[in-house]
Amino acid sequence: MPKKVSIVLCSYNEATNLPTVIKAIHENMDPLGYLLEIIVVNDGSTDNTMSVVTDLCKTDASLFYIEFSRNFGHQNALKAGLDYSTGDCVISMDADMQHPPRMLPQLLEKWEEGYDIVYTRRKDDENLPKLKRKSSSWFYKMLNFLADIDLESGTADFRLMDRRAANVIVGVKGGDLFMRGLVKWIGFKQYGIDYMPDQRLSGTSKYTIKKMRNLALQGILSFSTKPLSIALYVGFSIAVLSLLSMPYAFISYFFGHTNSGWSSMICIIGFLGGFQLFVMGIIGLYIGRIFDKTRGFPPYIVRNTNLHQQNPSEK
Ligand code: UDP
Ligand code: MG
Repeated sequence: MPKKVSIVLCSYNEATNLPTVIKAIHENMDPLGYLLEIIVVNDGSTDNTMSVVTDLCKTDASLFYIEFSRNFGHQNALKAGLDYSTGDCVISMDADMQHPPRMLPQLLEKWEEGYDIVYTRRKDDENLPKLKRKSSSWFYKMLNFLADIDLESGTADFRLMDRRAANVIVGVKGGDLFMRGLVKWIGFKQYGIDYMPDQRLSGTSKYTIKKMRNLALQGILSFSTKPLSIALYVGFSIAVLSLLSMPYAFISYFFGHTNSGWSSMICIIGFLGGFQLFVMGIIGLYIGRIFDKTRGFPPYIVRNTNLHQQNPSEK
């Protein structure tokens, strides 16, 4: 019996790209002789993704879909793909041709060599918008400084996971997981491949500035409490500095030359007030995450699927 490979395509308004991506996957996978399961996770698309996919399903027995009740975001769509997949390994890739399907044989070759996770590192692509490249490199620098993981620049959600590793992620409860960090964190035998991304086939990036900011926050908040300790140290240093100013004020009082510095007082009070609110904001972000976890809401809601298997995380 040949091994089974699951390929997860998270799609948010990718109707124009999906037929090409699926065709390219077949071109690269069919000659290899694996059993194939392609899962399109329709993350609340507002275009005709659903009709395109159901049409393709009529002639493609290896194609499946999971339709969300609304947009739950890429990371939750990835989780759903993993939860429902049944392959001996699971590959996740963008549904826009930026993650080249021609690399599939290479990923599988490394898996066959015995690696549990084969991840990819996007090389700096001159064609990508400057803001995207810059924001991506700042993101990895900041994350590695703040978080307790060490992610290589350009590691995105194009990777292969052996069933053993995939099951660990399936078992992680809660939504808005920072997948690439989690995958690094779980360990196993990992192998990284560099690649040059292709151009997006059509449409524009679905990662708006807001979605990128949320992803960056998820990455930091779920892998580090360093912002809390930084706030503690800075707060402590400011307190010590203001203590030092007390003897000065005291001595000046006795020597008769009291300071007139009203504006400097206002500056200091303003700074301290702002800084305290900033620290409270950081604490608030962590409390918000605890709130999200305790609320117990599901990370995604499936409206419809042609996969018969029950969602393993609901078992
Ligand atoms: N995506 C998704 N839900 C979202 C945003 C994006 O499923 O809310 C999908 C999108 O359709 C694509 C993949 O996630 O297949 C990566 O997004 P995109 O290509 O827009 O990001 P970029 O490659 O520009 O970082
Ligand atoms: Mg993309």
